[in-house]
Amino acid sequence: MHKEKLLRLSDISNFRFVVVGSGFSGSVFAERIAGVLKERVLVVEKRSHIAGNAYDFKQGGILIQKYGPHIFHTRHKDVWKYVSRFTEWLPYEHRVLAYIKGKFVPLPFNFAGIDAFFEKDDAEKVKQALIKEFGKGSKVSVLALMRSKNETVQKLGAFVYENVFLHYTTKQWGVPPEQVDRSVISRVPVNISYADTYFEDPFQGIPKDGFTKVFERMLADENISVTLNTDFDALFEVDSKKKKVVFKESRKPFNGFVIYTGQIDRLFQYKFGALNYRSLRFAFETHKKPFYQKAAVVNYPNDFDFTRISEFKHFYGIKSEKTIIAKEYPCTLSEGKEPYYPFLDEQNKSLYERYEALASGFPGLILTGRLANFKYLNMDEAIKRALSAFSERFGKSIR
Ligand SMILES: Cc1cc2nc3c(=O)[nH]c(=O)nc-3n(C[C@H](O)[C@H](O)[C@H](O)COP(=O)(O)OP(=O)(O)OC[C@H]3O[C@@H](n4cnc5c(N)ncnc54)[C@H](O)[C@@H]3O)c2cc1C
Repeated sequence: MHKEKLLRLSDISNFRFVVVGSGFSGSVFAERIAGVLKERVLVVEKRSHIAGNAYDFKQGGILIQKYGPHIFHTRHKDVWKYVSRFTEWLPYEHRVLAYIKGKFVPLPFNFAGIDAFFEKDDAEKVKQALIKEFGKGSKVSVLALMRSKNETVQKLGAFVYENVFLHYTTKQWGVPPEQVDRSVISRVPVNISYADTYFEDPFQGIPKDGFTKVFERMLADENISVTLNTDFDALFEVDSKKKKVVFKESRKPFNGFVIYTGQIDRLFQYKFGALNYRSLRFAFETHKKPFYQKAAVVNYPNDFDFTRISEFKHFYGIKSEKTIIAKEYPCTLSEGKEPYYPFLDEQNKSLYERYEALASGFPGLILTGRLANFKYLNMDEAIKRALSAFSERFGKSIR
């Protein structure tokens, strides 16, 4: 079990490095500081556990992911090599189904979806038109289909937009697609083939002993102290005028480095206003049957208030009489809710830039991660950013 060292405030001044948050961004930094710089580092985590949103735990023999389904996938060999120091992998290829008009079809939408919703001759016509325009085996965005000059392709685009994208996006973000960043819609792909795997990255897997164990190993160095249930705000404050992080109790400056992976607006007491995030509610259910659904994740774009159901057993191929699922309900960020997805409209982007400019004036402050950078990052991107930020600042690359 991971060691937990609760610290007295007077102990904190013994550290030159404080990492705020124990998700991938913070844990990579702590591991590098201890392992490469051979310095002591304090990790301050407000939750009752390490591992950030990748946290998992066992319930009835099944590893449950508390903050939704997480699959590790990357095209970055250096990131894969780095994480593989802390885990063995179970080979896993993620497949997602979508429940549309009473049928379960693969996501990304592909030729199997066309076969399911079009009469045989029409389906053939659509598939041939797609192959002719984009090439067999390619991946195209729903926008590209809708913009096609070919009427058959255009019609398919409209079908996919209506049945896969429109209502899912509205549920997910709480606003119509026009108000959602263009990058979201341009990411919705259609496979011009029967390919049904969700990710294309060459490195993909599920950590053999779960994600939390990965973090326990990353934070195992004796130079790393972790204090849980501790908010950064309880120990420190930022002095925006003097551009210093100060001890909350004494108001004396902290002259070391603070690596902050929490919300950037919260760090500065929302002085320019609050950034908007979308939150989620997970409803966990236990069912007395070996499996609830055919895939680890099934999306419900058009029916019900939840967007998807995850069944964790699929990741590990666990055999047992019961299963646990999580229904995922998007919601607004309110008291007690977690900020999951940054809402990337122009207003929020420019608000973030103001905070970023303010933070850049603090000499010992390093911001990294999905909350501090106000950016949706996959786990591999969070790791890559943390590794690069570390080597940019301290001049040591991965060893
Ligand atoms: C539903 C969902 C599914 C996802 N699925 C995938 C997936 O399949 N594959 C993938 O690659 N990525 C996935 N992600 C993204 C993944 O969760 C992020 O890449 C990852 O969490 C980023 O790590 P991080 O350390 O930047 O942030 P986090 O994991 O959020 O860690 C930040 C930590 O900082 C702590 N903290 C914040 N503020 C303070 C404070 N003031 N004081 C003390 N501690 C603080 C938080 O409690 C948290 O533990 C998913 C995200 C969501 C929301």
